[in-house]
Amino acid sequence: MQHKFITFIGGGNMAQAIIFGLLQQGYPAHKLMVCDPNPSRRDIFAARGIMVSDNNIEAAIRAEVVLLAVKPQMMEAVCLPLQAVDFSHKLLISIAAAISLQRLHDLLPSAANIVRVMPNTPALVSAGMSGLFAAPSLAQDLKDFAEALLAAVGKTCWLAQESDMHKITAASGSSPAYFFAFMEAMQLMLMDSGIDENMARLLVQQSALGAAKMAEQNPQISLSLLRENVTSKGGTTAAALAVFNRCGLDDMVKQAMAACIARSQEME
Ligand code: NAD
Repeated sequence: MQHKFITFIGGGNMAQAIIFGLLQQGYPAHKLMVCDPNPSRRDIFAARGIMVSDNNIEAAIRAEVVLLAVKPQMMEAVCLPLQAVDFSHKLLISIAAAISLQRLHDLLPSAANIVRVMPNTPALVSAGMSGLFAAPSLAQDLKDFAEALLAAVGKTCWLAQESDMHKITAASGSSPAYFFAFMEAMQLMLMDSGIDENMARLLVQQSALGAAKMAEQNPQISLSLLRENVTSKGGTTAAALAVFNRCGLDDMVKQAMAACIARSQEME
């Protein structure tokens, strides 16, 4: 991919996940800059040879691409001073949940090229999933760059309509936490039954990884069939799945994802 100069405004968890993923993929450190008021956050990036600053305006001026990676509730306070910067020839990428393209245009009126992205933290291990959305008028080369940037740290998909961003938040932005919660519950049960913590973790995480890899490597087999293939009638797996059914796993997942979507809509 082309190595444009990218300034990250906000060097928190998500910026770190993307930046470390990019470095791992060979993106040159001298083409990256991180702006964050917190010195301990800046140190993390400086230690990897990345330029750091606490001056958002100066850092944005020198960038070809500005990636906004601050919390949604910080966006207005961060963008108002950035109105001093001419964004008309820059690509602006926002990874903030629930900040619409219209809101970004209102906050930075000179920004003509904007891509909204909903990434997730597995970008840190090059296994991210990002949903992207841009106005149809955005130039193809800028769309391609944004896609390549996120593809360097995982898989990508373009959304047909901006409102789908809420669903992407529930599907991938927030979902690593659902899987961690599930794994945590399994680990706890094993520990309660006398298995040592490390062994319990190994058993759970390797099984989760194996299941995800089987799903990835067999796209022609439905998830239902993958499940059925490890479920003999009247056997041990069937006994466990019957409890999930009885306790309403499907409904619980639906409700949790709906709550995530509703919260995302509320925050917009
Ligand atoms: P975070 O709190 O870890 O990082 C935010 C960073 O912004 C902090 O390091 C903070 O010091 C910095 N900051 C605060 N004020 C600033 C300012 N004026 N100028 C520059 N930097 C400033 O948050 P995060 O989890 O990395 O989330 C960042 C964005 O990514 C959010 O908008 C969130 O919606 C989005 N996002 C996060 C995830 C996730 O899994 N964490 C997933 C998808 C999208």
